[in-house]
Amino acid sequence: MEPLDKDMAKKLFEQYRRNRDNIRNSPEMASICLICGSIHIIPSSEDNHQLVCRNCGFAFFRYECAACGNTIDGRDPLNPGCRSCGLRVCTCGVCGCPDAENHDTKEKSA
Ligand SMILES: [Zn+2]
Ligand SMILES: [Zn+2]
Ligand SMILES: [Zn+2]
Repeated sequence: MEPLDKDMAKKLFEQYRRNRDNIRNSPEMASICLICGSIHIIPSSEDNHQLVCRNCGFAFFRYECAACGNTIDGRDPLNPGCRSCGLRVCTCGVCGCPDAENHDTKEKSA
């Protein structure tokens, strides 16, 4: 992949700092840290679902949904954490749980 243009990176950083919606659909955001704005992002050595900022050490989820192939980004409000498996829940409803029906992102209403 081409290294990200610095001005472009800055623009996207500022845009998504204000509003994280749809961050998962922006391929460039796989290589921009939303904490410090650095573009030195590497895959995590500990968790292949995560990327790590080499500048500030911030780790975030960013991977492809095994079910539908969409990108999941832990910084996106539409990809909430699953309390059962620790992964993120895709917009299709699938997380890392063997049975997707079991994921538990909110309090039971009844
Ligand atoms: Zn950073
Ligand atoms: Zn999915
Ligand atoms: Zn889960």
